[in-house]
Amino acid sequence: MTERLYEKDSYCREFEATVVSCEKNGDLYDVVLDRTAFFPEGGGQYADKGTVDGIAVEDVQIHNGIVVHKMPCALECGRKVTGRIDWEIRFCRMQRHSGEHILSGVVHSLFGYNNVGFHMSEREMTVDFDGVFSPGDIENVEKAVNSVVWKNLKITISYPTDDEEKTVSYRSKLENIENLRLVTIEDTDCCACCAPHVSRTGEIGIVKVIDSTPNKGGTRLTVLAGATALHDYSELNRANKQMMKTLSVPREDVSAAAERQVELVSSLRYENQELAKRLAWSELSVIKINSSAISFAENLSYEELRHCSNMLMEQGCEVCLLFSTNDRENYIYVVSGVRDIRAIVKSLNDTFDGKGGGKPNYAQGKIVSGSTETIRTFAEEILK
Ligand SMILES: [Zn+2]
Repeated sequence: MTERLYEKDSYCREFEATVVSCEKNGDLYDVVLDRTAFFPEGGGQYADKGTVDGIAVEDVQIHNGIVVHKMPCALECGRKVTGRIDWEIRFCRMQRHSGEHILSGVVHSLFGYNNVGFHMSEREMTVDFDGVFSPGDIENVEKAVNSVVWKNLKITISYPTDDEEKTVSYRSKLENIENLRLVTIEDTDCCACCAPHVSRTGEIGIVKVIDSTPNKGGTRLTVLAGATALHDYSELNRANKQMMKTLSVPREDVSAAAERQVELVSSLRYENQELAKRLAWSELSVIKINSSAISFAENLSYEELRHCSNMLMEQGCEVCLLFSTNDRENYIYVVSGVRDIRAIVKSLNDTFDGKGGGKPNYAQGKIVSGSTETIRTFAEEILK
């Protein structure tokens, strides 16, 4: 069994150890030391990062009490080595993990909900509860959690004996657990856990719930703590300042001003579409065949073709076939008529490798072969 320094002293960031074994495993080497401060992946938390004798540790896993360091090269047995934990990453994780315990403890005491899932990424963590919160509940939870943080309460690690275990109440109870390790947050929470924690709640700084989503009948909270919460605040503040500058409004008006801009864009887009339709109609050059019409235009959208076709139909056109092209190779079309035009559309698609359709009196689609001349000949023939 590896001596797990991270369990006894979560602030151990550098340690001396001896290589006990080293075996090639795929592209990496499984290196076992007699003692380690590297926390292995587990309980929803990734493995520590860092180096052994200056060589980056790629992953750390634990099997039957033996901690395996995944290394890119071999280390000979008996070698004395120095391990160094990437402290910045580790400390952030400790802030988050201790923050999660406070959150789960507070939720449990206020609502009786259990933490039923936990995952920590480099930025945030998600905590799943088996109950539903109102937005007001989440605000209250957040206040209560941060009040625990700011009281700077003690966080202690203990290993109760079998007899003691019977008398203590704690969260995350597992059956037949060997070497039970309890993390106790003064007056707040007691939970079985193997991960490193900060020693006082004040070190967490802040806990912020940034999202809440329904999850399997309960709720998933996305939470930031400590340094990552500060980083997130800096990012949001930078983005907000940029928005204030772009919109030329004070901080409190950013969201209303953004909404006004979106409304303005949407009304301008509508106006633009209407103008484009009117322009298309005013510039449309129509070839009349009996009481039907054909037209070849450039760079018109379906919307604009449809508008032109409606105008032609209003003027008493029986059938109209309108085409538009961007590149003179592919044409989009709109066909409308006072009578059933489906046979015309089918023949058009068959003749010019087309796709499209619609209702008995209206269809639209695209053809990918044919030139203005061949399409025009076809249309003249079909409208005779
Ligand atoms: Zn834990």
